[in-house]
Amino acid sequence: MYTGILPITQDENGLAVVMAHEIAHAVAKHGSERMSQGLVQQLGGQALGAALSTNSATTQQVALQAFGVGSQLGLLRYGRNQESEADRLGLIFMAMAGYNPDGAVGFWQRMAARDNGASPPEFLSTHPSNETRINDIQSLLPEARKYYKAR
Ligand SMILES: [Zn+2]
Repeated sequence: MYTGILPITQDENGLAVVMAHEIAHAVAKHGSERMSQGLVQQLGGQALGAALSTNSATTQQVALQAFGVGSQLGLLRYGRNQESEADRLGLIFMAMAGYNPDGAVGFWQRMAARDNGASPPEFLSTHPSNETRINDIQSLLPEARKYYKAR
């Protein structure tokens, strides 16, 4: 799922939505049964630290790393509670990294509108989108905005 998600992310901020969401799953150890402890630490520290950088090459590396892990986690389907937690933490993480968390609404709306006829990338197949999620994200945004400082 390295490039399949890009039409839905559209830009760097949209990519940050996916990365922060996957990092949140990892930091919260949602996939701990299938992930090594080392991988969790790598994601929680290194990837998040690099995400704070504005260097585009670094951002690209982090993206590849997050996507690699995302495809591993793709073996799982997260529960609703885990999704809610990852949505909340993801919004905060991306805001801390200097990305506008408001972009998450558009991302999940594009997810909801995606063409179901195409074979979905891993992230899409494991992350059902719906109105409830979009509404939940909108109610979480005021908290996440407190962490957001435009770069
Ligand atoms: Zn998720």
